[in-house]
Amino acid sequence: MWDNGLCYIRRGARDKGEITVEYGSREDIAPISPSDRVLLLSHCLRPSQTCPGRFSKEGLVCPESCELSCAIGRLRTAAVAQGYKGVCVAAGGAMALKFVIAHRPRGVIAVACSNELAEAVRAAKTTASLNKDTPRYAMVPLRQDGCVDTEVDEAEVLEAIRAGCERHLV
Ligand code: SF4
Repeated sequence: MWDNGLCYIRRGARDKGEITVEYGSREDIAPISPSDRVLLLSHCLRPSQTCPGRFSKEGLVCPESCELSCAIGRLRTAAVAQGYKGVCVAAGGAMALKFVIAHRPRGVIAVACSNELAEAVRAAKTTASLNKDTPRYAMVPLRQDGCVDTEVDEAEVLEAIRAGCERHLV
């Protein structure tokens, strides 16, 4: 299910509040302004041996002085540059869900392993029950799994982060 690039979760148009999971084009996330989107990254993408980041209740905090080149830093910078309302480097699905509930985005780009993505599907159902404006999720699975020093196709994530952003320039 997760091996084929992006998939999207959204409230089905004809169902009665059920969440549907389906593949779709990037156009599904494009209509949402970046100021209404958040980026969720898995903490396992950080370089475990050298990362100076520290965990807080809201996820991994990268010190401004960090000069290491890593996927988390690059993807975070890209999302901030597009005007995203938030980025969370989460240490698990519960933390990511808390972030989504707190920020109430309309669109979520999520990068995680297959287990966490499955958890995100459950989280989407929870947010649906709390908030009828269920966010749309664009999910990118990790390319190399394993909980530590994982990898993702950054080009694919960047494409998802930037999808449609040019439409929302003022
Ligand atoms: S940018 Fe990367 S290496 Fe630096 S603190 Fe953040 S996660 Fe760690």
